[in-house]
Amino acid sequence: MTDALLALNAGSSSLKFGLYPAAGDAPIATGLADRIGAEGTLRLRAGYGADLPVPVPPDMSDHGTALETVLGALVAAFPELTILAVGHRVVHGGPDLDAPVLINEGLLEELEALSPFAPLHQPHNLAGIRAAIAAFPEAPQVACFDTAFHRSHPFVNDTFALPRAYYDKGVRRYGFHGLSYAFVTGELARIAPRLAEGRVVMAHLGNGASICAIHNGRSVASTMGFSALDGLPMGTRCGQLDPGVVLYLMQQEGLDANAIVDLLYRRSGLLGLSGLSNDMRVLEAAGTTEANQAIDYFVFRVQREIGAMAAAMGGIDALVFCGGIGENSRLVRARVCERMAWMGIEIDHERNALNAMVISSEMARTPVLVLPTNEELLIVRAVRSVALGNDAVPEAPLLHDRAPEEALAARGGAAG
Ligand code: AMP
Repeated sequence: MTDALLALNAGSSSLKFGLYPAAGDAPIATGLADRIGAEGTLRLRAGYGADLPVPVPPDMSDHGTALETVLGALVAAFPELTILAVGHRVVHGGPDLDAPVLINEGLLEELEALSPFAPLHQPHNLAGIRAAIAAFPEAPQVACFDTAFHRSHPFVNDTFALPRAYYDKGVRRYGFHGLSYAFVTGELARIAPRLAEGRVVMAHLGNGASICAIHNGRSVASTMGFSALDGLPMGTRCGQLDPGVVLYLMQQEGLDANAIVDLLYRRSGLLGLSGLSNDMRVLEAAGTTEANQAIDYFVFRVQREIGAMAAAMGGIDALVFCGGIGENSRLVRARVCERMAWMGIEIDHERNALNAMVISSEMARTPVLVLPTNEELLIVRAVRSVALGNDAVPEAPLLHDRAPEEALAARGGAAG
């Protein structure tokens, strides 16, 4: 018998999942069902890294059938599997939900009512939850919100300068990527507790990208606002945009709401600027003027927003990179840190090239770290706490570096 917890992260056309034991941080299996509704693909990998067999082609006409296909493949790989509880990433928890909660019908109605705030994501999250309830009617299910980590923002970082009635209706700066920030904040607290008590600027740079100001473990400000469009340019999203551009598109170019959604969410960002790809690896390899300008723009906006997030806290004690680009792109990290000596940021190029955990130079005032994020593991820990009443602190940091504490201490950093 394999007792397990399932973490589900349902996107618009994908379902990322992690199968974990009832206790412990090492996954039993992880995987991704992609291109749901089209010619779907399914990848399933055992915790030790080997690919596991999946049906070809996988049946993935909608989220429900995709989940059935995933479960079929999991049961084939682990025949005596028992799912004790399921956790879900939910993009929007509205103004009030600031922690993971057990799912019941009342909560589902509350989350459905928030769909207008995140029409491209929330309905897919809810479809994933309904599919999981149908598959495991007896198992407790837990919702983990991307917005929850940011509910600690002060009013000035929670509002827009619109008439107050809009704030009261929920038109606020919610911020996203909260599961990632919560996970990495936890990792930092275990690796370098004194640093984690300070003013940390955390850059989640992936296909979606944002930066967060975190003071003593609590989010103070985020570059993402009402929607996941604001702030940094992303793979296909525009990032911060003068609202006058949207008015121009409507009034002069005659674009309707759907056309603007398509433009701003799917055809802008790195893809729009480069005319080539939303993928940073492709742009780094391309070497065309447009690809280089797309990288230049990305780097410039990341630098600008690091400054803005530090200003929101009155300073910076550490900079942390995470996300696919933050964890892997030596080029982007090096370029972002290039003209940041005024903030005490200076990287050690050898350590950066090695993707080391601490990449700042010995003499730099501000430690710079690279900490892998793991949203599925955060969800599983929330499930253990909320559904199983198990709040055990994970035994050891997930990160592997020769001597992280010493490396930070050598910088006069705050490992403690
Ligand atoms: P994520 O959405 O967090 O999975 O991040 C996806 C982004 O990370 C894509 O733009 C990838 O090109 C980028 N990425 C992943 N690995 C690398 C790498 N080795 N070098 C540069 N970019 C990378």
